[in-house]
Amino acid sequence: MEQTEELIINQNWHEVTETFEDMNLKEPLLRGIYSYGFEKPTAIQQKVIKPIILGHDTFAQAQSGTGKTAAYTIVVLELIDTSVIQCQALILTPARELAQGICRVILQIGQYSKINCHACIGGNNVREDIRILEKGVHIVIGTPGRVFDMISRNHLSTQNLKIFILEEVDEILSRGFKDQIKKIFKHLPGSIQCCLFSATMAPEILKLTNNFMREPIRIIVKK
Ligand code: ADP
Repeated sequence: MEQTEELIINQNWHEVTETFEDMNLKEPLLRGIYSYGFEKPTAIQQKVIKPIILGHDTFAQAQSGTGKTAAYTIVVLELIDTSVIQCQALILTPARELAQGICRVILQIGQYSKINCHACIGGNNVREDIRILEKGVHIVIGTPGRVFDMISRNHLSTQNLKIFILEEVDEILSRGFKDQIKKIFKHLPGSIQCCLFSATMAPEILKLTNNFMREPIRIIVKK
């Protein structure tokens, strides 16, 4: 019998950082956050931003609308070294429009951070995707099919990736992308940090966690 449904996430994280100032973020990023209109982190942001910046693999569970997207946007903007024009963060989403929306949020909160990001999604012109990727981007947000296509054809290099984020992982699995995610994961550096965001905690997600994550911490925020 398969043992993979065991709960292997055994470390819950309770520390809270109540202000953006206390997160020791880069100055251009802090400026971007305030210009975007945020004054204070939401509950999930107070819990999740710091441990991810510290390098923990993380499973974060909270309902939609609680500030998860903004949370990992801030994390990714903090972690990117802008002097290296290579893809350093890969964010996968279940839907094209979602990827485009996240890209817009990253560009807005990152307006002073000098970053390039690209939404790599099915439906885009493939040649245009290749052109942008080969010119160089810091962050790619995409749907699993197109991202795997770009990686397997060597248009998206994974060797400088620091962080891999799966957004709405429950939705990614219910849309049948599990095998594609596993294939993508095989191309990622062994040292990569993995973070999963989800509204629910299903056994399927735990299986995925077992495959990808090292000593993940779990953060749950109930609205
Ligand atoms: P989720 O990814 O959990 O659905 P989002 O990050 O998209 O949540 O945030 C939901 C809404 O709340 C968005 O309109 C976003 O701009 C806003 N929001 C997120 N974080 C903050 C914050 N710290 N202060 C004010 N508004 C916020």
